[in-house]
Amino acid sequence: MNNAISAGQAVHVSPDQATVCCRGANNALGHPAVYLTFAEQSTVQCYYCGCEYKHAPEDGEHS
Ligand SMILES: [Zn+2]
Repeated sequence: MNNAISAGQAVHVSPDQATVCCRGANNALGHPAVYLTFAEQSTVQCYYCGCEYKHAPEDGEHS
C-alpha cells in the first residue's frame, strides 16, 4: 500500500520543500513534469492530474 496513491489522497512532502515536482505518478499516462509551489498554504494541487500535495508535520510519525 505504500506506493499506491489513490486519487483524492494528499501526498505528504517535507515541510522544507517550497516546491514539489509532479509527473502524474498516480496516472498511467502521466504528464510533463511540473513544479508546484507552496505559496502561503501548506497544500498545493497539481493542475494536470489533480494530485494534492501537503506539507507533513515535522514531528510526525516515523513510517
Ligand atoms: Zn500531477
